[in-house]
Amino acid sequence: MSRPAQRSRRQQPAQKLSRRTPLKRASRAKWVYLFDEGDASMKALLGGKGANLAEMTKLGLPVPPGLIVTTKACNAYLASDGFPPGLWDQLTSALAKVEQRTGKRFGDARKPLLVSCRSGAKFSMPGMMDTVLNLGMNDTVAARLSVLSADRRFAFDAYRRLVQMFGTVVLGLPDEPFEEVLARHRNVRGIANDADLEADDLAAITDEFKEIVRARTGKPFPTDPIEQLRLAVEAVFRSWNGKRAIDYRNAAGIPHDLGTAVNIQTMVFGNLGEGSATGVVTSRNVTVGEDEIEGDWLANAQGEDVVAGTRATHAIATLGDAMPKVWRQFTSACKKLERHYRDVQDIEFTVERGKLWILQTRDAKRTAQAAVRIAVDLANEKLITRAQAVGRVTPEHVDFFLHPQFDAAVRKAAKARGDLIATGLNVSPGAASGILAFDADTAERWAREEKKAVIMVRPETKPDDVHGMLAARGILTSRGGRTSHAALVARQFGKPAVVGVAALNVDEKSRTFTVGGRMFREGDAVSIDGTTGEVFAGALETVVPDFNDPYLLTLLKWADAHRTLGVWANADYPRDAERARSYGAEGIGLTRTEHMFFETDRLPIVQKMILAKDDAERDACLAELLPIQRRDFAGLFRAMDGLPVTIRLIDPPLHEFLPSHDELLRDVTELETRQRIAGAELAAGADPLGLAGTLAQKRKLLAAVEAMREANPMLGLRGVRLGIHLPSLVRMQVRAILEAACECAREGVKVKPKIMIPLTAHNNELKVERAILEAEATAVMREQKTRVRYQFGTMIEIPRAAITADQIAKYAEFFSFGTNDLTQTTFGISRDDAETGFLQEYLEKRILPENPFATLDQAGVGKLLQVGVALGRATRPDLEVGICGEHGGDPKTIAFCHATGFDYVSCSPYRVPIARLAAAHAALADAKGA
Ligand code: ADP
Ligand code: MG
Ligand code: MG
Repeated sequence: MSRPAQRSRRQQPAQKLSRRTPLKRASRAKWVYLFDEGDASMKALLGGKGANLAEMTKLGLPVPPGLIVTTKACNAYLASDGFPPGLWDQLTSALAKVEQRTGKRFGDARKPLLVSCRSGAKFSMPGMMDTVLNLGMNDTVAARLSVLSADRRFAFDAYRRLVQMFGTVVLGLPDEPFEEVLARHRNVRGIANDADLEADDLAAITDEFKEIVRARTGKPFPTDPIEQLRLAVEAVFRSWNGKRAIDYRNAAGIPHDLGTAVNIQTMVFGNLGEGSATGVVTSRNVTVGEDEIEGDWLANAQGEDVVAGTRATHAIATLGDAMPKVWRQFTSACKKLERHYRDVQDIEFTVERGKLWILQTRDAKRTAQAAVRIAVDLANEKLITRAQAVGRVTPEHVDFFLHPQFDAAVRKAAKARGDLIATGLNVSPGAASGILAFDADTAERWAREEKKAVIMVRPETKPDDVHGMLAARGILTSRGGRTSHAALVARQFGKPAVVGVAALNVDEKSRTFTVGGRMFREGDAVSIDGTTGEVFAGALETVVPDFNDPYLLTLLKWADAHRTLGVWANADYPRDAERARSYGAEGIGLTRTEHMFFETDRLPIVQKMILAKDDAERDACLAELLPIQRRDFAGLFRAMDGLPVTIRLIDPPLHEFLPSHDELLRDVTELETRQRIAGAELAAGADPLGLAGTLAQKRKLLAAVEAMREANPMLGLRGVRLGIHLPSLVRMQVRAILEAACECAREGVKVKPKIMIPLTAHNNELKVERAILEAEATAVMREQKTRVRYQFGTMIEIPRAAITADQIAKYAEFFSFGTNDLTQTTFGISRDDAETGFLQEYLEKRILPENPFATLDQAGVGKLLQVGVALGRATRPDLEVGICGEHGGDPKTIAFCHATGFDYVSCSPYRVPIARLAAAHAALADAKGA
């Protein structure tokens, strides 16, 4: 130990100011605030930690006195690589006030004040920046503190902590050499915990620590408290630009120019024997949301011990037994903070010889489940309004309830076993485990027939794989991005999916994949987490979060009370409709009738209908399809009793119902070859395998497919064009709709059919098509002797339709914006080609800010929506307007639809609860803005 601290402080050469120098007028900017000069509204200037320390001081809570150096000072420091003029003067004079309040003096060995130097930015960045405790310690102070506290062990415990923290945080030394010293001393004593080291050990350790500093930096550990403080403040400023902090800000979307504040706070000591303690709690359980304090504490410890995990902590409830009086004060302080901030708090505290101190509070992070319950509870407790409760829950929180999850403990154990084998893109949330199937047919067979849980793994998926995807519990691919086929289908159907797992080497031939040197075969168990993108070996247990969680249902009911936008669902089958309804859908906005044509028992009839050589043959097929479609529609009407059901007439080009051209060509060629080889036998009239018959049939199919082949099917014979071209097909559909409606109406079901014509570009298309269909509808009702109210409407999915919507509205009672196709036709890009190709590049290069197929391109496609709504309503003021593209479930698009005056959005059943919340958020934002 060199000079007395008191003297060296006055000798600060760079900072020629002693505390006795009156503050000069020259320092205009206010860089420093005492805790009682700030409040919670000043987070940008004082940082979250500082602003809340100030607020708690104001509230009269026991906060150790201190001061805050502003974020502006940090920015000024970082810009000029030095303290801005006036800062140090202000800091030392504020410190003098803290000294007055505590009756101690910083650097004065007689009544030593120790302080902590704590980082704290506007947004909390847990563990990203630095804090140093016990500044002001040196040999003289430690000796004196030993006497004052009558606890030499405490004094040297505090000292060795300072040297260690200062060495690592301020001087940038690695932690290992310090930890090695501690470990060696523990070994000598045969103890496991630092807490059991004795005073002599700690004194010796302090000396060794100082030696580490000297040896590694070439300079002695600074024993001058003012020097310690200055270096610590600079280190905290600099930690704003540490790699850790920058990475965190990039990930969390926090701007890089905010800077951190520095809090200089009187130390209070939780390591002053068994009557002292420290801990961290949340004022409620933030895992499930119960109203009970949750957290950990340790006797005889300093703050960092609790989070470091080096000592086994106690559950906070046991603090009540150990320190009943402190516990009462503490629980009431927690309640007070919660009431004041009107939210659950994350609170640090320390008990110094029976006296409670609060060291930090902030709004607590929480799980989705807890977020919902807490919001509802706080509203019921009248701490917040119901509208605020709705505002506090995010679409992601609601999404959580719709997907199975892995238990946190199960996941942790799997990681500890080394079973986390890879990570990919988390494209469809939820957890799933099952056995690997390498193709869609196997996946479907195992799932449907053998009732096994299957994870379907593919390099990537194609439309032919959908049946396997639907049967599987989860989907895993080694290629593809967020907009790949696998990702889209998975999201649409609520299947957990991880895609683009590049580390996965899928070998379709041997039906295996390898990853990190491990090989997995078909039938082996794996688990995927579509929420995090993780892939695990083995079957991890999943827990199904309950959508019928009473808190969620309450919250969504509150959301419904605020929203003005309707929420409908896209559903093709009665079971989807039922699910949608149970999730709160108020109608079906889109039923794709062609999905019904793909079912295995129907496809042959559909194909026969397409290949019919004359009207008679076609009509026979249609007659076969009619009762099937009628049953489908009746099922939907019954499931949606009382609510509208929008049924879209056939949309895709017919070739989609036939085998692919390339496949047929291959088959024909192969059959021809086999026939040639077997030529002689065949000539003799023997054809046991029926080659000739098969070949003839395939040739016929091939010819038909060739005849129907289009260069650009997306822009070809489909939608309303197909209806006009093949009127008997759509007439059959309309007949099925109305027959089903009449039948249900007679049963007492309230039916509200809406017949929707796809892909209109010109009002004349609608005029012609509608005349045909109206005639059929009228005929059916006459036959059935039943009247039902129904509507005709159209999809708006071609720009021409949007900009001539006034014409179109003459023939349509409702519009439904098909934003998937409208996005394709507006951008002039084909989605299938884009998403497997250049779209990813566009997103990476930020040529497009977002995938326009996921969130609506408001400036372009959105403009067409606005124009379409305005023109349509100019012709027909009561025109009903909705959206049924995938965008209907996207919160940003929902806000746009609300603002554009839509009547409803229609989305996948799984997005319905999210859409209800998002629509409420849009209405609340609207009310706020007005
Ligand atoms: P972090 O932001 O990483 O939590 P903190 O600045 O909150 O860093 O400090 C780290 C630990 O030190 C916390 O447990 C905190 O309660 C404790 N601590 C900070 N300042 C003091 C002080 N003046 N007296 C006692 N403990 C303190
Ligand atoms: Mg903290
Ligand atoms: Mg379409």
